[in-house]
Amino acid sequence: MNSLNLSYAQCCGCSACYNICKFDAIDMIEDEKGFLIPKINKEKCVDCGACANVCPVLKNKLNIDENNEKYPLAYAMYNKNEDERLKSSSGGIFTLLAKNIINNKGIVYGASFNNENLVEHIRIDKLEDVSKLQGSKYMQSIIGKTYQLAEKDLKEGRTVLFTGTPCQTEALKSYLNCEYDNLYIQDIICHGVPSALVWKEYIKKYNDKKLNINFRNKEFGWKKYCVSIKGENVDYTKCYVEDTYMKAFLKNIVLRDCCYNCQFKKYRRISDITLADFWGIDKICPEMFDDRGTSLIIVNSSKGERILNCIIEQTKFKKVNLEDAIKMNRCMVESVAMNEKREEFFKELGKIPFDELIDKYI
Ligand SMILES: Cc1cc2nc3c(=O)[nH]c(=O)nc-3n(C[C@H](O)[C@H](O)[C@H](O)COP(=O)(O)OP(=O)(O)OC[C@H]3O[C@@H](n4cnc5c(N)ncnc54)[C@H](O)[C@@H]3O)c2cc1C
Repeated sequence: MNSLNLSYAQCCGCSACYNICKFDAIDMIEDEKGFLIPKINKEKCVDCGACANVCPVLKNKLNIDENNEKYPLAYAMYNKNEDERLKSSSGGIFTLLAKNIINNKGIVYGASFNNENLVEHIRIDKLEDVSKLQGSKYMQSIIGKTYQLAEKDLKEGRTVLFTGTPCQTEALKSYLNCEYDNLYIQDIICHGVPSALVWKEYIKKYNDKKLNINFRNKEFGWKKYCVSIKGENVDYTKCYVEDTYMKAFLKNIVLRDCCYNCQFKKYRRISDITLADFWGIDKICPEMFDDRGTSLIIVNSSKGERILNCIIEQTKFKKVNLEDAIKMNRCMVESVAMNEKREEFFKELGKIPFDELIDKYI
């Protein structure tokens, strides 16, 4: 497909190649399914091989201290601040981590909605901007040149918290290619990332430049979370099992090709800390369940432990067994199976109204 020697199905769109290229020879282009893929400009390319070297998919395995038996450690946890917790997808632990970094003059990177209602990675250094990163946005975030920005911050001695999907955090680590004591990496357990084109089709009917979107509205509880969309022409709230976009996401018909065979879903991770929803907490540890959101927190390194210790007093937590915890959250280690109607679905995307498309295929 390109001189990276990476097949379309393998490419995770992490943008490590786009960030590393010194010759500006790579553009991230939207393909017909709505996913960004690298395109090499042959006229600018000098065949230096940097893009293939940095690719976390081709690299296959980054250095993890496999001998450190102490990790991973797992906790059920939630933020004691009710307001922050309710505005977050699960237990609101990201918010505590981000505030801690910013209070110590650090920088946080994470996924935010932009002015076109799409998701992109941004750099923040102010407490009032933490809310932009709060909450899961169920589509692939556009990385842009944030790995370069993070590298600059790190080299200037700033403390950085970089957050993202496991492919994005591995890409950052591969891009940096050295250890920074002032870098904290936080990933998530990731189901997979839906296509931005599908999202655009879904919100088209609202014809609104700037919507207020919450994929994890807890009005009816954490377990029965809703999608809520507010704007000039819309005031919409629907439980995830009834919302057409969430149906498509959770029926595995709109994920990126590589998400069905993801090499970043694993037990031992390069991130310092992994955040997730603690599905099944009501059975495993009922005293940590009140249907307002409980996180599963996985500490993967001593740095992860260090940053968690800074916020632990602001949380309610209980140590748990990781194997038990991931019984209800297989996306930690396993990819979901591709919906067999996926190709037909994408062929008809945009040709018939979105709700009809969902009725036909889901
Ligand atoms: C696409 C996607 C799939 C997920 N799949 C699962 C799953 O299968 N099982 C599970 O337990 N948890 C999953 N999660 C994670 C979960 O929904 C919560 O984000 C996590 O529990 C953290 O919750 P919180 O309350 O601490 O923080 P929140 O405030 O809810 O989370 C904010 C954090 O999520 C990051 N984030 C939000 N959207 C994106 C995005 N599009 N790309 C990269 N980073 C993003 C932000 O940068 C920030 O670090 C998924 C999240 C996303 C974005």
